[in-house]
Amino acid sequence: MHYQAFLLAVLIGFLTGCDRSPTPPVPPVKPASAPGIPDPGAFQATSAWAYVEGLVAIRPRDAGTPGARRAAQWIYTTLATFGYEPELDSFDDPIPGGTATFHNVIARLPGTGSDIILLISHFDTKNGIGPDFQGANDSGSSTGVLLELARRFAGNRPNPSIWFAFVDGEECRTAYGPHDGLHGSRRLARQLRETGIASNVSAVIVLDMIGDRDLTVNVPANGTPYLVALAFRAATEAGIRPRFRLYDHAVLDDHVPFMEAGMPAINLIDFEYGSRPGANDYWHTMEDSLDKLSVQSLEHIGRTTIRMIQTLARP
Ligand SMILES: [Zn+2]
Repeated sequence: MHYQAFLLAVLIGFLTGCDRSPTPPVPPVKPASAPGIPDPGAFQATSAWAYVEGLVAIRPRDAGTPGARRAAQWIYTTLATFGYEPELDSFDDPIPGGTATFHNVIARLPGTGSDIILLISHFDTKNGIGPDFQGANDSGSSTGVLLELARRFAGNRPNPSIWFAFVDGEECRTAYGPHDGLHGSRRLARQLRETGIASNVSAVIVLDMIGDRDLTVNVPANGTPYLVALAFRAATEAGIRPRFRLYDHAVLDDHVPFMEAGMPAINLIDFEYGSRPGANDYWHTMEDSLDKLSVQSLEHIGRTTIRMIQTLARP
């Protein structure tokens, strides 16, 4: 199918809700590698798993609590061991009934060009679940994958700069609104817009809840169409196309503030995290624990993400 025709089919699918899983275009020839981008096979899922365990050991990590601060410091220290000079951006933001302090952690890998690919994971846990709440999938899994990606990319010199942003306060306390939820991503999106850096951001890729051992990636309708097409192509190349589905409605997650600030963005999220296919009953419960995840799911997402970056980085 022609690329534009595919995009049109995706759009029609969004509008009608009738085609949730179109066949994506498959490249006819093996594309050239992109300089400075690791091979997808270099992603070590066992290493990612160790980072998931490392974050989950800090629990709970509800935004505004000492747990979230310790988690941010742990991420900062881990990134520093990879050779980055990370930024710890602590800031106060209004919340229902007051203010709270949040912490974003950002590692920047400078590129040879002006473009920036921004990879995002939140690291906070949903508030009020329980004193020993792990948040293994939400937010351990994506944080572990993003740390392993940062480790694999460290020391490289790709064409686009690659930023690894670990954002706080994705979870809302009561209901999403201007002062509840998405605190870290709204902060970073605003900073990029106000400094003019946003115009150099070619892609924002948000990972969330991607460690479920029964992996089903629902790509929400409210993503930038060419990034959605790119994700399906990368999943095909990675041999996990059956695990990717178009979700026929919007999801409010950390990609939204970047889209609202004019940056292309996509959210890779598994929103079927439960005791049976289609159920989401582990989400935001004490059942969100390490035994529900698998190393292989981390590997699938890590390698698919590298394939997406390879295509974006190709001259
Ligand atoms: Zn959540």
